[in-house]
Amino acid sequence: MKCWVINKSKAKKILLDNVKNVIPSDVMFLAQDIELPEIAEDEALIKVNSAGLNFNSVWSAKCHPVDPFSLVNGHVRRNKGDKKHIQDYFIPGSDASGTIVKIGLNKKFKEGDEVVIHCAVIDSKDLNMKDPMLSKTQSVWGYETNFGSFSEFSIVKISQLLKKPKNLHYTLSGSYMLTLGTAYRMIVTKNGGKLNKGETCLIWGASGGLGVFAIQLVNSLGAIPICVVSTKEKADYCKKFGGKHFIILNELENKKFLVDDKFNMKMWLEFSSKIKNIIGSDKVDMVFEHIGMETMALGIYLLRRGGRVVTCAASSGYEAKIDIRYIWMEMKKIIGSHFCNINEAEEANDLITNGLIKHEPNKIIDFKDIPKGLDEMNSRKSLGKIAVKIN
Ligand code: NDP
Repeated sequence: MKCWVINKSKAKKILLDNVKNVIPSDVMFLAQDIELPEIAEDEALIKVNSAGLNFNSVWSAKCHPVDPFSLVNGHVRRNKGDKKHIQDYFIPGSDASGTIVKIGLNKKFKEGDEVVIHCAVIDSKDLNMKDPMLSKTQSVWGYETNFGSFSEFSIVKISQLLKKPKNLHYTLSGSYMLTLGTAYRMIVTKNGGKLNKGETCLIWGASGGLGVFAIQLVNSLGAIPICVVSTKEKADYCKKFGGKHFIILNELENKKFLVDDKFNMKMWLEFSSKIKNIIGSDKVDMVFEHIGMETMALGIYLLRRGGRVVTCAASSGYEAKIDIRYIWMEMKKIIGSHFCNINEAEEANDLITNGLIKHEPNKIIDFKDIPKGLDEMNSRKSLGKIAVKIN
């Protein structure tokens, strides 16, 4: 079987040499002869038809902040039955659609069914928890577990299977679930920020994979998205997904979030005056956050009393400095959110099936170009989602 892999020896070298600025195409290797292990009774073997690129594969290739082999070891420590994931190779990729080739015990799906795969790997004993994402067994497929989607075949838990929307061509159906599901939980459900009609939501990185779904979800609730992007070109791209209000970072007079490791108050004030020009108030109800170190403190500052920052990532670094006075004095909340549980994934998938949220990847690339596509994400040049044709 053909698949893109990260080899254990290469990952070790990156860690030992403490290589900075490594790019995915330097690390990933096209393997031709890997044989997948047998599936267990709670698993399915999938012929992958299409996949999607996500930023977590950039982290895997960079071995930062944690290399994929250590993450897989962590998964196996929490899931003793999953030892087969420990291999000398790691196949990344956390989004796919495909066809079931072989399936364990279940009543819902059968061999030959076309499916979309969501990335929440959870032990079957915890699937009935109120929020299975809180299970200690939970891992992200193709990031913390092996046998991800950059491959002709993949192994997934049966509980990761969703019906493929009939209205979406199979080339497109493998590239929305991870970011749509994440944005759905962050914005819509009570496990995230549960945005209400009429509220305002500041969306960082609005032209990215999370952002294009965040804009649509905020609009669908009758709330108001304020999109933050670095360039006018990215703002124009957001308009395709319903973005109307923009803060364009390279057009600000004060461009730096931090100066000498201190908050750049000039920038914060310029930022809030831009928000005031848009909505008539310099404070928002919710912040959709995933940039981390550079933006967390500003996001907290920009909230109204009792507002919430919902965060799922830290692309610019995770050791953020914040001024906690704003949190208690103005009773603001920081809510952590991570992908979504199975009910939320089904609800988000239904939005695509019913045509309420559109999925239009900015690019469709060939299997051979996966590492180059990840390089593009790494350099912050990509727009929206990148879909990959596999089989
Ligand atoms: P994309 O690369 O598609 O988009 C991110 C956008 O953020 C970029 O387009 C860029 O836009 C902006 N950005 C601002 N500062 C930085 C920075 N320092 N580095 C990189 N991007 C920056 O990524 P996604 O939207 O798919 O994902 C964003 C983050 O969220 C990633 O770290 C990803 O791993 C994480 N994530 C976490 C999930 C979870 O479940 N916990 C699920 C999905 C994603 P601009 O240049 O215009 O500012």
